[in-house]
This record gives sequence, C-alpha cells and structure tokens, in this order.
Amino acid sequence: MTRARVLLLTAALGPLDYRVPYGSEAPLGSVVVVPLGPRRMGGVVWEDASFGAPEPVGDNRLRNLFEVVPVPPVPAPLRKLVEWTSDYYLAPPGSVLRMVLPGAAFADARRPIVEYRATGELPARMTPQRTVALEKIGTRQGLVRELAALAEVSEAVIRGLVKAGALEAVAVSADQPYPEPDPGFAPPDLSDEQTAAAGQLRDAVAAAKFETLLLDGVTGSGKTEVYMEAIAAAIDAGKQSLVLLPEIALTEPMLTRFAARFGCEPVAWHSGLRSTERRRAWHSIAAGEAKIVVGARSALFLPYAKLGVIVVDEAHEMSFKQEDGVHYHARDVAVMRGHFEGLPVILASATPALESLAMVEAGRYRHIVLPARFGGATLPDLAAIDMRQDPPDRGRWLAPPLVDALADRLHKGEQSLLFLNRRGFAPLTLCRTCGHRIQCPNCTAWMVEHRLVHRLACHHCGHVMPPPRLCPECEDEDSLVACGPGVERVADEVSSRFPEARVAIVTSDTLWSPAKAAEFVDNVEGGLVDIIIGTQLVTKGYHFPNLTLVGVVDADLGLDGGDLRASERTFQQIAQVAGRAGRGVKPGEVLIQTRVPEAPVMAALVANDRDGFYSAEAAARKFAGAPPYGRFAALVISSEDIEVARGQAQRLGAKAPVADGLAVYGPAPAPLAMLRGRHRFRLLLHAPRSFDLQGTIRDWVNSVEWSSKARLAIDIDPYSFV
Ligand code: ADP
Ligand code: ZN
Repeated sequence: MTRARVLLLTAALGPLDYRVPYGSEAPLGSVVVVPLGPRRMGGVVWEDASFGAPEPVGDNRLRNLFEVVPVPPVPAPLRKLVEWTSDYYLAPPGSVLRMVLPGAAFADARRPIVEYRATGELPARMTPQRTVALEKIGTRQGLVRELAALAEVSEAVIRGLVKAGALEAVAVSADQPYPEPDPGFAPPDLSDEQTAAAGQLRDAVAAAKFETLLLDGVTGSGKTEVYMEAIAAAIDAGKQSLVLLPEIALTEPMLTRFAARFGCEPVAWHSGLRSTERRRAWHSIAAGEAKIVVGARSALFLPYAKLGVIVVDEAHEMSFKQEDGVHYHARDVAVMRGHFEGLPVILASATPALESLAMVEAGRYRHIVLPARFGGATLPDLAAIDMRQDPPDRGRWLAPPLVDALADRLHKGEQSLLFLNRRGFAPLTLCRTCGHRIQCPNCTAWMVEHRLVHRLACHHCGHVMPPPRLCPECEDEDSLVACGPGVERVADEVSSRFPEARVAIVTSDTLWSPAKAAEFVDNVEGGLVDIIIGTQLVTKGYHFPNLTLVGVVDADLGLDGGDLRASERTFQQIAQVAGRAGRGVKPGEVLIQTRVPEAPVMAALVANDRDGFYSAEAAARKFAGAPPYGRFAALVISSEDIEVARGQAQRLGAKAPVADGLAVYGPAPAPLAMLRGRHRFRLLLHAPRSFDLQGTIRDWVNSVEWSSKARLAIDIDPYSFV
C-alpha cells in the first residue's frame, strides 16, 4: 500500500497521512484533493521528515485521497521555501501554501467559462439601480459574481440584466497560450554605464547561480531598461522572469513598457485580476509558459516551472512587507527563493533600504551603481522652505515661495507635482464648541473627511458615515470644522489661487483601476494637466519629461510617528518624489516645506548627501541595536472583549522569556488600541542579531493557556509599530 503525507491548505492543521488508492501515484509535491471530515480539501504531498516529523497514523485509520490534480507537482525548492517562510515568520505552513496554490490552481483550465458583458441595448424596463449598474460595468467583462461586486448590486440584478438582454454571455477559454515575448523586439541603445551594468546582470542570469545584486541607480538612470536586459537573457535561456512591484497601480504602466521592449505584454498577477485571468495565469506559470510575470508581492510564491531571475523593483518600499496573515517581507523571501532555487535576485532602487546597503558592506550582495541620469538629464535642485519663517496664509497650506514657483511653471507651460501623503480633505473633524473629535467606532483613529464623495471614512477599517451636521456630542449646529489638509484640500487651495490651472488628484481613491491609471498617464503626457496633487502613489514609476517642479507639502509628516525607520522612510519618499522632476531636457526644482530644516534628514536631502545620511543613520541604528544590527519581533494579542485581550496578554507577559541580551517590553495597549472592533495589547521583543527569536517565541507561546476568544499575531522584523 502507498501512503502520502499531505500538507493541507488550512492554517489549523499540520500534515496528515492518507492512502494513495491502488492504481494512482502521488509522488512528492503532487497537488491532491483529500477528505477532511465531511469536506474536500486541497493539499500537497510532503516529506515525512518535515514539520517535526509527526508519528505516522496507523494503516487502519487511513482514508483514501480523492484525486491527484493534473497540474505539475510543487518542486522541492519551493517546498523548502514554504517551510522556511513558515518557520521564519512563525506562520502556519498551510497559510503559506495557500499563496502557492490559490483557488485558481484547482480550477480546470480547459473548461470554458462564461462571462458577461454589456450589449449596448438598454432593457425595456429601466430602474435607477439598473442604470447605475450598467454605468459602473461600462465595457468591462466578468463572471456574474464579479460584475455584481463591481456594480455594487446583488447577483440577482445582474441576472435580471442578462435576461433583459442588456448583458450577454461570452465564452472564455482560460488555456489560451500567451504571446511569446521577443528579446530582440526593441532593444535600447544603452549608454556605456548601462551597458556595463546590464552585462553584469546578463552574466549572472547565464551563470544560473544564487546571487543578490543591488542595482543602485539614481532616479531616471535607466534601471528598468538595464534589468530588462537580464530578463532578455533569461528568455534566451528558455527561462521565466518574475518582476515584483510594490503596488498594483504600477503594474499597468509597467506592462506597457514591457510591451514596447519585448513586443507583447507580460503576464500580470495581482489581487485585481478576474478569476478567468487568474486561472489562465496560474496554469501558464506552473507550466513554464508565461515567460515574464509582473506582479504584486503575492506573485512571489507561485510555482514557476523554470524561473531564471527575480527582480524586485523599488526594492526599498516598505509595502513589500505584508501586514496581515503571513507577515512576510517579499524582498527578503525573494532572496531566499533565489537561494533555494539557485538563481540571481536583482534588487533595484534609487534609495536602497539600509538593510540592503549593510549586506553590500558585508560583501553578501553585489553592488551595481548607475550614478547619473540617462541622456544627460540632470538631477533636480532641492531646497527647504522653513515654514516657521515663511508660513502660509491663515487657513492655507502652501508657503509663498512654493506658490510663486507654481505660478512660474503655469506661466511657462510646464507641469508641477504637489506631494502630500494624506488622502481625503482633512484628517480630523473637530467641534469648535465642545472640542469633540469624530472618531471611528471600530478603531482608535479619527474619521477622515472625503469631501469629493461627501463622506467621513476610517482609513483603518473602511467604516464610512455621512458628515454629521450637528456635533454628535453637544449637538451644536454648524460647529464642526475640518482640521489639517489632505490632498483634496490642497487641490481646493490650488484651484482658488489658480482658477485656470488644470488639476489632477492622484490617490488610491481616484486611481482605483488600471484604466484610471492609464487615463491619468495619457492626460499628463498629452499636456492636459498642469498640476498633479497626489499621495505616495505618484512618487515612483512615472516619467513625465515636462514636469519641472515638485513641492513637498508637509515633509515632517512621516517623522511624527517616530518609529525606527521614520527618517529612512522620509528620506526615501522625498528623494523618490524629487526624482519625478526634471527628467527631460528642462531642469527640475524641488521645494520641501518643513518646520525642521535643521533635522539631519532634511539637511541631507538639500545637500544631496545620500552617503552622509545613510552612514549617520547606520551609526544611530548600530548604537540602538536596531535593525539591521539587532532584531525586533512584535506580538499583538487581540479580542473583541477587552478583558479577554488584557488577561491573555498578562498571562503571556507573566511567562516572558529571560535571556542574555533579550529585552521584552509590555504587555501594554498597542498604539492602535482598537482596530476593526478588536482590542489590542502588544509585547515587543528586542534582541541581538544572532539571538534565536523564533525558537524563543515558539516555546513561550506554547507554554501559555490560550483563550479561544483571543487571537495572536506574530510579526518578525516588524515595519509597523502600531
Ligand atoms: P529609473 O527606473 O532608473 O528611474 P527608467 O528606466 O525609468 O529609470 O529610465 C528613465 C527614462 O529614460 C525612461 O523614459 C527610459 O525609457 C529612458 N531611458 C533610459 N535608458 C535609456 C536608453 N538606453 N535608451 C533610451 N531611453 C532610455
Ligand atoms: Zn475604523
């Protein structure tokens, strides 16, 4: 009899043993469907020795597995990566495996699927709901479920529209091959510096060995063009390439760029895909057919059959760290994947993370530098505006020198960008009479006013409410005032100062779809926009040659939180957004509004002294034993019942491990004491680099009784300290 140990796609269980029915075969890595109680569940056949090698179950208690799914087995190096990720981040292995095998893996790619799209005919009976639904659907196509979600109506409404002839069925096949990218389609003429860098990358791909290469080039130096040569080399070798981007919004412009270089769009992978697209992409990736995959961090765990190189673009971005579920850092796991699979990993950035530079210094990463912008473009001039000396007018947010600079660009027909990392109109609504502040009922957070949609919204849980007319506390009328600016408020000021200016607001509220992002790029490139006002979404990726002025509205915003990476993040963000200015022939200017121009990070930005900033920051981190020279881990205990959360945190705190070099802080209410209706208490561990934090935490957590009403989230190497 053959047996198989199966790691299931559930967080709740370790591997379980099954019988392989007579006549079937299920070698290691096979994707299978098995019975679990009354349910069917997916899983992968795994090594007996993994996960502490649990005792095998007796033959008489084995159940037959149902099915071996006809997809390629999960290869051994990827199984190792799943184990490593689960071990390192203290996450259930089944949760990590889910990222390898999303639902799309189990859907038969050969079975045709029926999607629906608008016919252009209006139904005989129109209702306001139907009108709105058809408007929201527009020219898009999808499953009934997807269209219902898109139009924010029930599935019954969509089916009604099908019956009435307003939507029609379209058969979609999910196993169509993708077009093959052609490395010789439109190769660029590289500069000498670019040629040297590209040569190193090409050689690393040809060597097919593990190595991490830090492609460190100033904004506009042509990093993308250069790493595309590594991808061309992978295609020449018959291998696949993966490009990880920090944000979905960046995928669309990147697809277009790749199409210009390789003759066809790469395969995209992110949470915004329709289920048919997801199915087609997954199967093509697992078969080794999708040659270039561009995606968000979730693309990292997919079972590429023949991966040749991984590129992490904007590798310093902290959004590569996942903040829920498995708390992994995609940049770090990408390097581990390269290690297990024996392939090069390229980290591209103009402002690398301190962690990456420390690895260069330690001789672990190869440093490839592009010191100048391509084509003779110069780096912009940066200057600080001291908001104490040059304050804006009352109730305004732009200081006179910035207003003058905007007027100058408008006059010259050049474009400007104002950066403020805050969505909405105002971050706080306050009662002038009683001082009451409008707070989210589910979170320790203020409700943010979004004036364009007449709503207050919580940026943590998504709770929305109409703006109240009366103060909810003292019931005074017309006493509520908006405090502080968000991008919408800055846009108001710009419009009142320059009524003739054409303004584009760019946030996740306005650029929520690839089509919207493409429209924005077209409008700016076509000269239909004078002033862009945006959040961190506009700080990277875009190349607008006629954009010559960047204004940072509140450079101090990121320093307030005071977490250990606050200065680094501020430096990176401002250097990145500054990098949008003067990318063409006209030089760029950057004005930074700050109340602390003397702060080292501001001084370094203005002096264009990156090395000075990094070495001072590294020295401070070393002194504090902070990453990358020491380690942190956070444990957050949460419950809907505050007493349960507190009691659980105290039980854990009472058994806190004691060891040389280890410091345990807390338990204390987390800075975000309530989130999505759950009360949160936090413990923070601080230890030297060499300390076995994971082992210590595992033993500690297992030594305590757990209430079924309390939840524990473990965050190894945290980036968020709330
Ligand atoms: P980075 O990613 O370093 O900011 P990009 O790769 O976006 O830089 O390059 C900046 C701009 O210069 C892009 O429009 C790019 O197409 C162009 N560019 C860079 N290198 C070349 C080259 N060798 N030939 C033609 N255009 C180039
Ligand atoms: Zn909330």
